[in-house]
Amino acid sequence: METMRAQNKGYNAEVLVVTYNRARKYVNDSSKFRILLSFGQHGRELITSELALRLLSSLSEEKSIPNVDLKSLNNILEKIVLKVVPMENLNGRKRVEDGDLCERRNGRGVDLNRNWSVDWGKKEKDYDPHEENPGTAPFSEPETQIMRKLSKSFDPHIWITVHSGMEALFMPYDHKNTTPDGLATHVMKSMLNDVNRLHCKDRCLVGSGGGSVGYLAHGTATDYMYDVMKVPMAFTFEIYGDKEASMKDCFRMFNPVDRTTFNRVINDWSAAFFTIFKMGPHWMDLVHFNSSKLESIDEYLEGYLIERSSRYGKRMEVLDLGMQEIRTYFRLFLLSSVLLMFMFCSRISKSKYATIRPIVSAVSL
Ligand SMILES: [Zn+2]
Repeated sequence: METMRAQNKGYNAEVLVVTYNRARKYVNDSSKFRILLSFGQHGRELITSELALRLLSSLSEEKSIPNVDLKSLNNILEKIVLKVVPMENLNGRKRVEDGDLCERRNGRGVDLNRNWSVDWGKKEKDYDPHEENPGTAPFSEPETQIMRKLSKSFDPHIWITVHSGMEALFMPYDHKNTTPDGLATHVMKSMLNDVNRLHCKDRCLVGSGGGSVGYLAHGTATDYMYDVMKVPMAFTFEIYGDKEASMKDCFRMFNPVDRTTFNRVINDWSAAFFTIFKMGPHWMDLVHFNSSKLESIDEYLEGYLIERSSRYGKRMEVLDLGMQEIRTYFRLFLLSSVLLMFMFCSRISKSKYATIRPIVSAVSL
Protein backbone atom coordinates (compact mmCIF):
# COMPACT_ATOMS: atom_id res chain seq x y z
CA MET A 1 0.00 0.00 0.00
CA GLU A 2 1.38 3.42 -0.87
CA THR A 3 0.09 6.97 -0.95
CA MET A 4 1.02 9.08 -3.95
CA ARG A 5 0.87 12.85 -3.59
CA ALA A 6 0.97 15.80 -5.97
CA GLN A 7 0.03 19.47 -5.89
CA ASN A 8 -0.66 22.33 -8.27
CA LYS A 9 -1.04 25.99 -7.26
CA GLY A 10 -1.77 25.20 -3.65
CA TYR A 11 -4.22 22.42 -4.45
CA ASN A 12 -3.08 19.12 -2.96
CA ALA A 13 -4.23 15.63 -3.78
CA GLU A 14 -3.32 12.19 -2.61
CA VAL A 15 -4.15 8.82 -4.05
CA LEU A 16 -3.90 5.55 -2.18
CA VAL A 17 -2.64 2.62 -4.27
CA VAL A 18 -3.01 -0.98 -3.12
CA THR A 19 -0.82 -3.59 -4.77
CA TYR A 20 -1.80 -7.24 -4.80
CA ASN A 21 1.10 -9.47 -5.71
CA ARG A 22 1.50 -13.06 -4.60
CA ALA A 23 4.62 -15.18 -5.11
CA ARG A 24 6.80 -12.08 -5.18
CA LYS A 25 9.97 -13.89 -4.19
CA TYR A 26 10.33 -16.21 -7.14
CA VAL A 27 8.94 -14.29 -10.08
CA ASN A 28 9.96 -11.03 -11.66
CA ASP A 29 7.00 -8.60 -11.50
CA SER A 30 7.52 -7.33 -15.01
CA SER A 31 7.01 -10.84 -16.37
CA LYS A 32 3.59 -11.04 -14.76
CA PHE A 33 0.24 -10.00 -16.16
CA ARG A 34 -0.45 -6.48 -14.90
CA ILE A 35 -3.88 -5.02 -14.20
CA LEU A 36 -4.60 -1.47 -13.08
CA LEU A 37 -8.06 -0.71 -11.67
CA SER A 38 -9.32 2.68 -10.61
CA PHE A 39 -12.50 3.44 -8.68
CA GLY A 40 -14.14 6.61 -7.42
CA GLN A 41 -12.92 8.96 -10.15
CA HIS A 42 -16.22 10.79 -9.79
CA GLY A 43 -17.19 11.79 -6.26
CA ARG A 44 -20.89 10.96 -6.39
CA GLU A 45 -20.36 7.40 -7.62
CA LEU A 46 -19.83 6.04 -4.11
CA ILE A 47 -20.75 2.47 -5.00
CA THR A 48 -17.57 2.09 -7.08
CA SER A 49 -15.27 2.48 -4.07
CA GLU A 50 -17.44 0.00 -2.15
CA LEU A 51 -16.75 -2.48 -4.94
CA ALA A 52 -13.01 -1.79 -4.72
CA LEU A 53 -13.02 -2.51 -0.99
CA ARG A 54 -14.99 -5.74 -1.44
CA LEU A 55 -12.65 -6.86 -4.20
CA LEU A 56 -9.63 -6.27 -1.97
CA SER A 57 -11.20 -8.01 1.00
CA SER A 58 -12.01 -10.99 -1.23
CA LEU A 59 -8.46 -11.14 -2.50
CA SER A 60 -7.18 -11.09 1.05
CA GLU A 61 -9.68 -13.86 1.85
CA GLU A 62 -11.53 -11.80 4.45
CA LYS A 63 -14.79 -12.13 2.55
CA SER A 64 -15.99 -14.60 -0.03
CA ILE A 65 -17.90 -13.90 -3.22
CA PRO A 66 -20.81 -16.17 -4.20
CA ASN A 67 -19.85 -18.50 -7.06
CA VAL A 68 -16.16 -17.61 -6.88
CA ASP A 69 -13.85 -20.28 -5.46
CA LEU A 70 -10.67 -18.44 -4.61
CA LYS A 71 -8.71 -21.64 -3.98
CA SER A 72 -9.29 -22.79 -7.55
CA LEU A 73 -7.87 -19.49 -8.75
CA ASN A 74 -4.57 -19.79 -6.86
CA ASN A 75 -2.55 -20.58 -9.99
CA ILE A 76 -4.03 -17.64 -11.81
CA LEU A 77 -3.63 -15.17 -8.99
CA GLU A 78 0.05 -16.00 -8.74
CA LYS A 79 0.60 -14.92 -12.30
CA ILE A 80 -0.89 -11.44 -11.96
CA VAL A 81 0.07 -8.17 -10.32
CA LEU A 82 -2.89 -6.01 -9.51
CA LYS A 83 -2.83 -2.34 -8.59
CA VAL A 84 -6.05 -0.93 -7.21
CA VAL A 85 -6.88 2.73 -6.64
CA PRO A 86 -9.98 2.49 -4.42
CA MET A 87 -10.70 6.23 -4.48
CA GLU A 88 -9.10 8.28 -7.21
CA ASN A 89 -10.92 11.48 -6.29
CA LEU A 90 -10.60 11.73 -2.54
CA ASN A 91 -11.24 15.51 -2.38
CA GLY A 92 -14.37 15.22 -4.53
CA ARG A 93 -15.62 12.40 -2.39
CA LYS A 94 -15.20 14.58 0.69
CA ARG A 95 -17.46 17.19 -0.95
CA VAL A 96 -20.10 14.53 -1.57
CA GLU A 97 -19.86 13.32 2.01
CA ASP A 98 -20.30 16.93 3.12
CA GLY A 99 -23.69 16.93 1.40
CA ASP A 100 -23.01 17.93 -2.21
CA LEU A 101 -24.46 14.68 -3.53
CA CYS A 102 -24.35 15.67 -7.23
CA GLU A 103 -20.64 16.51 -7.28
CA ARG A 104 -18.57 14.43 -9.66
CA ARG A 105 -15.54 16.74 -10.02
CA ASN A 106 -12.44 17.02 -7.86
CA GLY A 107 -11.85 19.32 -4.88
CA ARG A 108 -11.59 22.40 -7.11
CA GLY A 109 -14.29 21.67 -9.64
CA VAL A 110 -12.43 19.84 -12.41
CA ASP A 111 -13.75 16.65 -13.97
CA LEU A 112 -10.89 14.18 -13.67
CA ASN A 113 -12.22 12.21 -16.62
CA ARG A 114 -11.83 15.23 -18.95
CA ASN A 115 -8.37 16.31 -17.80
CA TRP A 116 -6.31 13.88 -19.92
CA SER A 117 -4.60 14.92 -23.12
CA VAL A 118 -6.38 12.95 -25.88
CA ASP A 119 -8.66 15.47 -27.60
CA TRP A 120 -8.54 17.60 -24.43
CA GLY A 121 -10.70 20.67 -24.04
CA LYS A 122 -13.08 20.07 -26.91
CA LYS A 123 -16.58 21.02 -25.88
CA GLU A 124 -19.82 19.58 -27.22
CA LYS A 125 -22.94 21.73 -27.72
CA ASP A 126 -24.45 20.48 -24.47
CA TYR A 127 -21.27 21.18 -22.49
CA ASP A 128 -21.98 21.84 -18.83
CA PRO A 129 -19.06 23.11 -16.73
CA HIS A 130 -20.72 21.80 -13.59
CA GLU A 131 -20.28 18.35 -15.01
CA GLU A 132 -17.36 18.32 -17.43
CA ASN A 133 -14.93 21.14 -16.63
CA PRO A 134 -11.67 19.86 -18.21
CA GLY A 135 -9.34 22.11 -16.17
CA THR A 136 -6.96 24.82 -17.41
CA ALA A 137 -4.75 22.40 -19.37
CA PRO A 138 -4.26 18.67 -19.84
CA PHE A 139 -2.95 17.19 -16.59
CA SER A 140 -3.56 20.42 -14.68
CA GLU A 141 -4.97 18.33 -11.85
CA PRO A 142 -2.71 16.55 -9.34
CA GLU A 143 -5.00 13.49 -9.29
CA THR A 144 -4.56 13.04 -13.05
CA GLN A 145 -0.81 13.57 -12.77
CA ILE A 146 -0.64 10.85 -10.13
CA MET A 147 -2.65 8.42 -12.26
CA ARG A 148 -0.48 9.12 -15.29
CA LYS A 149 2.67 8.51 -13.25
CA LEU A 150 1.25 5.31 -11.84
CA SER A 151 0.25 3.90 -15.22
CA LYS A 152 3.58 4.88 -16.75
CA SER A 153 5.61 3.07 -14.11
CA PHE A 154 3.32 0.05 -13.90
CA ASP A 155 2.76 -0.38 -17.66
CA PRO A 156 -0.46 -2.43 -17.32
CA HIS A 157 -1.90 -4.90 -19.81
CA ILE A 158 -5.41 -4.06 -18.65
CA TRP A 159 -6.78 -0.72 -17.45
CA ILE A 160 -10.30 -0.39 -16.09
CA THR A 161 -11.82 2.78 -14.65
CA VAL A 162 -15.01 1.97 -12.78
CA HIS A 163 -18.00 4.32 -12.78
CA SER A 164 -21.73 4.31 -12.11
CA GLY A 165 -24.79 5.98 -13.63
CA MET A 166 -25.66 3.20 -16.05
CA GLU A 167 -24.80 -0.40 -16.83
CA ALA A 168 -22.21 -0.50 -19.58
CA LEU A 169 -18.87 -1.90 -20.66
CA PHE A 170 -17.01 0.61 -22.77
CA MET A 171 -13.86 0.36 -24.84
CA PRO A 172 -12.11 3.17 -26.72
CA TYR A 173 -12.89 5.63 -28.08
CA ASP A 174 -14.75 8.09 -25.88
CA HIS A 175 -13.94 11.15 -28.02
CA LYS A 176 -15.33 9.71 -31.26
CA ASN A 177 -18.09 7.26 -32.02
CA THR A 178 -15.85 4.54 -33.43
CA THR A 179 -13.67 1.78 -32.03
CA PRO A 180 -9.98 1.46 -32.99
CA ASP A 181 -9.06 -0.62 -36.05
CA GLY A 182 -7.52 -4.05 -35.96
CA LEU A 183 -7.77 -7.38 -34.29
CA ALA A 184 -7.19 -5.99 -30.78
CA THR A 185 -10.59 -4.33 -31.05
CA HIS A 186 -12.29 -7.64 -31.78
CA VAL A 187 -10.57 -9.23 -28.80
CA MET A 188 -11.63 -6.35 -26.55
CA LYS A 189 -15.18 -6.54 -27.80
CA SER A 190 -15.45 -10.29 -27.33
CA MET A 191 -13.97 -9.92 -23.86
CA LEU A 192 -16.66 -7.37 -22.99
CA ASN A 193 -19.36 -9.56 -24.50
CA ASP A 194 -18.20 -12.43 -22.28
CA VAL A 195 -18.31 -10.24 -19.18
CA ASN A 196 -21.74 -8.94 -20.19
CA ARG A 197 -23.14 -12.43 -20.66
CA LEU A 198 -21.59 -13.89 -17.50
CA HIS A 199 -22.02 -11.05 -15.06
CA CYS A 200 -24.44 -8.45 -16.39
CA LYS A 201 -27.12 -10.79 -17.75
CA ASP A 202 -26.66 -9.08 -21.15
CA ARG A 203 -28.11 -5.84 -19.76
CA CYS A 204 -24.90 -3.87 -20.22
CA LEU A 205 -24.31 -1.66 -23.22
CA VAL A 206 -21.14 -2.80 -24.99
CA GLY A 207 -19.08 -0.76 -27.43
CA SER A 208 -17.05 2.40 -27.76
CA GLY A 209 -17.80 4.99 -25.08
CA GLY A 210 -18.45 7.69 -27.68
CA GLY A 211 -20.60 5.44 -29.86
CA SER A 212 -22.77 3.93 -27.15
CA VAL A 213 -23.31 6.44 -24.38
CA GLY A 214 -25.07 9.06 -26.48
CA TYR A 215 -22.43 11.81 -26.11
CA LEU A 216 -18.75 12.21 -26.90
CA ALA A 217 -16.31 12.69 -24.03
CA HIS A 218 -13.01 14.48 -24.62
CA GLY A 219 -9.83 14.13 -22.57
CA THR A 220 -10.79 10.85 -20.87
CA ALA A 221 -8.52 8.48 -18.99
CA THR A 222 -9.39 5.41 -21.07
CA ASP A 223 -8.65 7.11 -24.40
CA TYR A 224 -5.27 8.22 -23.01
CA MET A 225 -4.45 4.77 -21.64
CA TYR A 226 -5.21 3.22 -25.00
CA ASP A 227 -3.80 5.82 -27.38
CA VAL A 228 -0.80 7.19 -25.50
CA MET A 229 0.11 4.66 -22.83
CA LYS A 230 -0.55 1.87 -25.34
CA VAL A 231 -2.38 -0.24 -22.78
CA PRO A 232 -3.65 -3.04 -25.04
CA MET A 233 -6.96 -3.48 -23.20
CA ALA A 234 -8.43 -0.26 -21.80
CA PHE A 235 -11.97 -0.05 -20.52
CA THR A 236 -14.56 2.00 -18.67
CA PHE A 237 -17.05 -0.05 -16.69
CA GLU A 238 -20.37 1.44 -15.58
CA ILE A 239 -21.65 -0.84 -12.87
CA TYR A 240 -24.99 0.58 -11.74
CA GLY A 241 -27.62 3.16 -12.61
CA ASP A 242 -31.22 3.90 -11.68
CA LYS A 243 -33.05 5.28 -14.71
CA GLU A 244 -36.19 5.83 -12.66
CA ALA A 245 -34.48 8.13 -10.17
CA SER A 246 -35.24 11.83 -10.26
CA MET A 247 -32.51 13.98 -11.84
CA LYS A 248 -32.35 15.86 -8.55
CA ASP A 249 -31.71 12.72 -6.56
CA CYS A 250 -28.08 12.14 -7.44
CA PHE A 251 -27.45 9.64 -4.69
CA ARG A 252 -30.18 7.42 -6.09
CA MET A 253 -29.15 7.92 -9.72
CA PHE A 254 -25.64 6.64 -9.08
CA ASN A 255 -25.92 4.33 -6.06
CA PRO A 256 -28.18 1.51 -4.91
CA VAL A 257 -30.31 2.48 -1.92
CA ASP A 258 -31.42 -0.92 -0.63
CA ARG A 259 -29.33 -3.70 0.83
CA THR A 260 -30.40 -6.37 -1.71
CA THR A 261 -29.43 -4.29 -4.73
CA PHE A 262 -26.23 -3.18 -3.05
CA ASN A 263 -25.18 -6.78 -2.44
CA ARG A 264 -26.21 -7.85 -5.92
CA VAL A 265 -24.12 -5.12 -7.56
CA ILE A 266 -21.08 -5.76 -5.37
CA ASN A 267 -21.22 -9.54 -5.81
CA ASP A 268 -21.86 -9.51 -9.57
CA TRP A 269 -19.05 -7.09 -10.31
CA SER A 270 -16.57 -8.68 -7.93
CA ALA A 271 -17.16 -11.93 -9.80
CA ALA A 272 -16.71 -10.06 -13.10
CA PHE A 273 -13.25 -8.94 -11.99
CA PHE A 274 -12.27 -12.49 -11.12
CA THR A 275 -13.31 -13.54 -14.63
CA ILE A 276 -11.06 -10.80 -15.97
CA PHE A 277 -8.14 -11.96 -13.79
CA LYS A 278 -8.70 -15.48 -15.07
CA MET A 279 -9.20 -14.73 -18.75
CA GLY A 280 -7.07 -11.61 -19.15
CA PRO A 281 -3.80 -13.39 -20.00
CA HIS A 282 -5.53 -15.51 -22.67
CA TRP A 283 -7.22 -12.52 -24.24
CA MET A 284 -3.83 -10.86 -24.17
CA ASP A 285 -2.26 -13.74 -26.09
CA LEU A 286 -4.73 -13.18 -28.88
CA VAL A 287 -3.92 -9.48 -28.97
CA HIS A 288 -0.17 -10.07 -28.79
CA PHE A 289 0.00 -12.64 -31.52
CA ASN A 290 -1.43 -10.17 -33.96
CA SER A 291 -0.01 -6.86 -32.85
CA SER A 292 3.26 -4.99 -32.90
CA LYS A 293 3.82 -6.05 -29.30
CA LEU A 294 4.39 -9.60 -30.64
CA GLU A 295 5.82 -11.85 -27.98
CA SER A 296 8.06 -14.87 -28.48
CA ILE A 297 6.61 -18.08 -29.83
CA ASP A 298 7.39 -19.73 -26.51
CA GLU A 299 5.21 -17.28 -24.59
CA TYR A 300 2.39 -17.64 -27.07
CA LEU A 301 2.49 -21.41 -26.87
CA GLU A 302 2.57 -21.27 -23.10
CA GLY A 303 -0.70 -19.32 -23.10
CA TYR A 304 -2.20 -21.68 -25.65
CA LEU A 305 -1.30 -24.75 -23.64
CA ILE A 306 -2.54 -23.32 -20.37
CA GLU A 307 -5.84 -22.64 -22.08
CA ARG A 308 -5.97 -26.21 -23.34
CA SER A 309 -5.03 -27.59 -19.94
CA SER A 310 -7.80 -25.67 -18.22
CA ARG A 311 -10.24 -26.87 -20.84
CA TYR A 312 -9.29 -30.51 -20.46
CA GLY A 313 -8.16 -30.44 -16.86
CA LYS A 314 -4.69 -31.82 -17.51
CA ARG A 315 -2.02 -31.71 -14.86
CA MET A 316 0.84 -29.22 -14.89
CA GLU A 317 3.53 -31.87 -15.39
CA VAL A 318 1.81 -33.13 -18.51
CA LEU A 319 1.48 -29.55 -19.58
CA ASP A 320 5.20 -28.92 -19.25
CA LEU A 321 6.01 -32.04 -21.25
CA GLY A 322 3.48 -31.15 -23.92
CA MET A 323 4.84 -27.65 -24.09
CA GLN A 324 8.40 -28.89 -24.66
CA GLU A 325 7.20 -31.18 -27.44
CA ILE A 326 5.17 -28.56 -29.20
CA ARG A 327 8.01 -26.08 -28.97
CA THR A 328 10.39 -28.60 -30.51
CA TYR A 329 7.96 -29.48 -33.31
CA PHE A 330 7.28 -25.84 -33.97
CA ARG A 331 10.97 -25.05 -34.21
CA LEU A 332 11.57 -28.04 -36.48
CA PHE A 333 8.68 -26.95 -38.63
CA LEU A 334 10.10 -23.44 -38.90
CA LEU A 335 13.57 -24.76 -39.67
CA SER A 336 12.35 -27.13 -42.36
CA SER A 337 10.23 -24.38 -43.92
CA VAL A 338 13.27 -22.10 -44.09
CA LEU A 339 15.39 -24.88 -45.61
CA LEU A 340 12.73 -25.67 -48.20
CA MET A 341 12.45 -22.00 -49.10
CA PHE A 342 16.19 -21.78 -49.42
CA MET A 343 16.40 -24.86 -51.67
CA PHE A 344 13.57 -23.59 -53.79
CA CYS A 345 15.20 -20.19 -54.20
CA SER A 346 18.57 -21.66 -54.95
CA ARG A 347 17.09 -23.85 -57.70
CA ILE A 348 15.51 -20.84 -59.32
CA SER A 349 18.70 -18.85 -59.01
CA LYS A 350 20.78 -21.70 -60.34
CA SER A 351 18.68 -22.12 -63.42
CA LYS A 352 18.52 -18.38 -64.00
CA TYR A 353 22.12 -17.45 -63.21
CA ALA A 354 23.80 -20.78 -63.90
CA THR A 355 26.42 -19.12 -66.01
CA ILE A 356 27.40 -16.50 -63.42
CA ARG A 357 28.23 -18.46 -60.24
CA PRO A 358 26.74 -21.09 -57.97
CA ILE A 359 24.50 -19.57 -55.33
CA VAL A 360 25.91 -21.69 -52.45
CA SER A 361 29.21 -19.86 -52.63
CA ALA A 362 27.49 -16.84 -51.10
CA VAL A 363 27.04 -18.68 -47.81
CA SER A 364 30.09 -18.98 -45.63
CA LEU A 365 30.12 -22.18 -43.59
ZN1 LIG B 1 -18.34 8.58 -13.62
